[in-house]
Amino acid sequence: MKWGEYAYFRGEIVPLAEARVPITTHALNYGTGCFEGIRGYWNPGHQRLYVVKLREHYERMVASCRILRMDPGLDAEEMAELTVALLKRNAMTCDVYIRPLVFKASEALKLTLSGLEDEFAIFCAGLGDYLDTSRGLKVMVSSWTRLPDTAIPPRAKVTGSYINACLASDGAQQLGFDEAIMLTEDGKVSEAASANLFMVRHGKLITSPVTDGILEGITRGAIIELATTVLGIQVEERRIDRTELYVADEIFLCGTGVQVAAVTSVDGRPVGDGKIGTLTRRLQQLYFAAVRGEDERFRHWLTAVSYS
Ligand code: PMP
Repeated sequence: MKWGEYAYFRGEIVPLAEARVPITTHALNYGTGCFEGIRGYWNPGHQRLYVVKLREHYERMVASCRILRMDPGLDAEEMAELTVALLKRNAMTCDVYIRPLVFKASEALKLTLSGLEDEFAIFCAGLGDYLDTSRGLKVMVSSWTRLPDTAIPPRAKVTGSYINACLASDGAQQLGFDEAIMLTEDGKVSEAASANLFMVRHGKLITSPVTDGILEGITRGAIIELATTVLGIQVEERRIDRTELYVADEIFLCGTGVQVAAVTSVDGRPVGDGKIGTLTRRLQQLYFAAVRGEDERFRHWLTAVSYS
């Protein structure tokens, strides 16, 4: 991993090595942080970094903070501005992953969310594909169920809740799969460990509803926009049975890190004819053109950062 040289920490841009927290930090002990994952795509022709849906990510972070009784002391706009300033300082001419965090910074052993200090920090790293987008992925349905809203709300992007994703994803990888799909406690398809899921059946694009334990994905929203506005395809948000995955024509995962990644087998059963589906490919192409700044229709998704 190529880390950005500088981080934003305690109100200033500092060398990454100086952005450190004590072992007694509440967030380190109890997972009381919330975070975002944002991508910036370097366009060599334009000599610009295009940051995708920056504002939307910080709006979701503000929502996560509300759930965790956190106050970063900054609004979405201010956090976005600090992100741009950090990116300019790092001046990375490659695709970049940006990780903002708001965390309970107090050194405390108390199990509470109130009366603790919150800190906002950002670091970044160079990042290509997280999962291979050039081939179809082999996934399995995990025996680890997705966290319910009544335990740790998945709609808040909470650091501690990613234990759930780690257990499922690691379990799948140990068994030779690329990624895990998680079900809700009552057995409906929720999402993958770090991405939302879409399937194609009877020419319709179908995705789990936001009430089935998913993170309300920003890429999911982007895919819905591309499918409906460019391709004129109907998108249905409804509950999905596990066995629908076995009879789906196409399946793909989407997320900031994962981007748009085709799934060609589930639990050892080929999806459709076992090859990357045509609609999946089309959406992949549209998505990559949009985020790389090559499709004018979606330039409003992007914040352009240049270093000169
Ligand atoms: N679900 C989970 C659990 C995730 O971690 C992510 C990645 N942030 C997603 C879905 C996709 O969300 P987004 O498109 O906003 O990155």
